[in-house]
Amino acid sequence: MTQALKDILAHQQAAQRLSPVVELETRLDRLERLTNALLASEPRLIAAISEDFSYRPDIESRVYDVDLVLGEIRHAKRHLKRWMKIRRAPVPLIYKPARAETHPQPLGVVGIISPWNFPVQLALAPMVAALAAGNRVILKPSELTPRTSEELASLIEDAFTEEEVATVLGGPEVAAAFSALPFDHLFFTGSTGVGRKVAEAAAKNLTPVTLELGGKSPAVVMPSADLDRAGRRIAWGKAMNAGQVCVAPDYVLVPRKKMLPMSDAIMGAFMHFFPDGPESADYAAVVSDRHLARLNAMVKEAEERGAKIFRLEGEAGNTRKFAPTLVLDPPQDIALMQEEIFGPVLPLIPYDDPKEALEFVAGRDHPLALYVFAEERAEQDLWLARSLSGGVTVNDTAIHVGFGSLPFGGVGASGQGRYHGRYGFETFSHLKPVVRQAKWNGMALAEPPFKGWRKRA
Ligand code: NAD
Repeated sequence: MTQALKDILAHQQAAQRLSPVVELETRLDRLERLTNALLASEPRLIAAISEDFSYRPDIESRVYDVDLVLGEIRHAKRHLKRWMKIRRAPVPLIYKPARAETHPQPLGVVGIISPWNFPVQLALAPMVAALAAGNRVILKPSELTPRTSEELASLIEDAFTEEEVATVLGGPEVAAAFSALPFDHLFFTGSTGVGRKVAEAAAKNLTPVTLELGGKSPAVVMPSADLDRAGRRIAWGKAMNAGQVCVAPDYVLVPRKKMLPMSDAIMGAFMHFFPDGPESADYAAVVSDRHLARLNAMVKEAEERGAKIFRLEGEAGNTRKFAPTLVLDPPQDIALMQEEIFGPVLPLIPYDDPKEALEFVAGRDHPLALYVFAEERAEQDLWLARSLSGGVTVNDTAIHVGFGSLPFGGVGASGQGRYHGRYGFETFSHLKPVVRQAKWNGMALAEPPFKGWRKRA
């Protein structure tokens, strides 16, 4: 396998060496081909995702998987000419009249390793940025969504030659061999633990990496928050894809006196969204039996350790559906509060003073996302200034991911590097500084002998 992988990479690198200049037209054409192939295979992709999850609402796959990628393509096509421009830079006085410029250039061949939770978006959105920047791509999608990965491979085969974009299918072993290849850039989306292994493998080749990782993203309800508004938007962010979202609120910090009204507001929103309970057609299933068993074990441990549990009632018709569940005031040393939950279970943690809530978050790994619910600006600004997270949405959850005009990425344990829109283009480009010296210039003054140079006064 390793030799086969090396061959694909060598093939693409040779092709890139042959045509290192990737014109605007070529890039636009590749993006156009991706759009057409994506639109043509949309129904098959949506069906495959639902099959892989055992059930997922079509609308979630359309909006968060397909449409999000189409939006990234549209944005890139609209702005690419400007992003590719050579930019003049100011020239320090002693170098005048030289000219200074930055030239964005393709890095070469980019490796992309993607997870299962949004299997189309997280494979193709980085690809859009890599292609816009003039690179070639090899993709390794997740083995946990095998039908979708097969559909992705055939979509890519329809749209591109193997020298432009190739797909490699396989599990952790293939993934480990893949991340050991000397790519010109490696883009990984997945868990923090595997991200560490990827960074280690890439370091051996000095391959630069972007790591889009996970972690526990808090939602903080401040004293001035509108509880109904907060409850609805937290429930929305947690119910999407049954909580299997990297930026889902992982837990909620709540003023102690408001614990019950807050849990009522969130549970009320779940009941409003899913009047038929978890079997509702608008609610996704959990991706595998192993993931389902893990969530069950987490909630059981919390219950055994004295936490109060509220579950959305109703039979789960599909055996892999897990009812939205609130866990009130669990102890901090259980799996639920130690690991990223990545499912529809939401702990509510009471606090007495906002300072205590700030310390709770600051004492843990920097999260990928943070949500502040506060009607008062000063309470919002306190969190913006005093906490460090990949991104923030104020008075809502998850929506900052959808802004092509904003960078998306983590910080510390939640990741490094960023993409979306222009930020993705820059991640996959080398911004080369270029100086064009003038014929008549002052550099002769810098040549030895230095006899005539004055001492520093
Ligand atoms: P994962 O880390 O288990 O797997 C992700 C990918 O890594 C898969 O393609 C897998 O085959 C591959 N892989 C497995 N072992 C590997 C190894 N030794 N070397 C290289 N690659 C290897 O993650 P997952 O379970 O698919 O996804 C869930 C995680 O991803 C969560 O932690 C979630 O927060 C995170 N996530 C982050 C983002 C983001 O944008 N920051 C988006 C979605 C998911």
